[in-house]
Amino acid sequence: METREPEVIRDKEAMRRWSRSMRSQGKTIGLVPTMGFLHDGHLSLVRQSLTLSDVTVVSIYVNPGQFSPTEDLSTYPSDFSGDLSKLAAVSSSNSDVIVVFNPRNLYDYNDGERRKKKTNGGGGGGGGKVVVSCVEEGGLGHETWVRVERLEKGLCGKSRPVFFRGVATIVTKLFNIVEPDVAMFGKKDYQQWRLIKRMVRDLDFGIEIVGSDIAREKDGLAMSSRNVHLSGEERQRALSISKSLAMAKASAAQGKTGCKELKDMIISEIVGAAGRIDYVEIVDQETLEGVEEIKSGIVICVAAWFGTVRLIDNIEINVAV
Ligand code: AMP
Repeated sequence: METREPEVIRDKEAMRRWSRSMRSQGKTIGLVPTMGFLHDGHLSLVRQSLTLSDVTVVSIYVNPGQFSPTEDLSTYPSDFSGDLSKLAAVSSSNSDVIVVFNPRNLYDYNDGERRKKKTNGGGGGGGGKVVVSCVEEGGLGHETWVRVERLEKGLCGKSRPVFFRGVATIVTKLFNIVEPDVAMFGKKDYQQWRLIKRMVRDLDFGIEIVGSDIAREKDGLAMSSRNVHLSGEERQRALSISKSLAMAKASAAQGKTGCKELKDMIISEIVGAAGRIDYVEIVDQETLEGVEEIKSGIVICVAAWFGTVRLIDNIEINVAV
């Protein structure tokens, strides 16, 4: 079959017009939000969307609102033409419709001159000086944020305090622009998936949120756009994350259900491979609150640094053990 590159839409009004015209033809819309540099994990979400909806929008947008100025926004990898080829190859039939939404800047409201005069060129947030994300740093004047107040605080929220505020806000913006029926999120970013589900429930978005299993490399490493920054040797050592998670799950299945012991085992494997731990937590799947003993559905979540790369991974334990 001949592959066709997806249509690219860059303007948010054009995106909304496209979605509304699809809807007026009775078609359902699936949305897959991404930051690009697509890998098989992203593509599995796209495939799922194609089965669940008539047309699929893949957004490719590196969201400055979820990066603090000290994080890796400027080095985040990208390969837009490669992304388009990968998406072209995903279509299994000519009836598959994929559109790429690739906006330039979703926080720029074309009021730069007016704002400059008003704030004398000061920072964002109505001229306030506090720089917490790259949006404020850019002085773009955006000041409305969506917060999922409890779920945003633990796990990744501890070391990345503005991250989930940025994620919830950009996903809300994408929902308002694309107006999808269903949106796909990877369980690789477990806290993000749970937080978006909670936001959609709490704010009555009429959108179904689907969580997709983690796609892994053959050796177990969770796929991530950031893996490209690992040296060969760091990548090898980073396997300690997925290996220790699998070991912990096997131990729990054999009756070792005390969370302290399981966490200590994971920490010792990762530190033994010269990884720097951000956190290892065993939490309830819904509330993301820590548990001491595995009795029901939990997820073990890990964030660790190898070199300059921060990796996250997790494993669910679904049945009482
Ligand atoms: P990102 O481009 O990293 O923001 O990811 C876009 C979406 O793809 C998010 O919903 C991620 O959770 C999901 N995703 C990223 N990596 C994986 C993976 N290895 N397996 C499944 N989903 C993933």
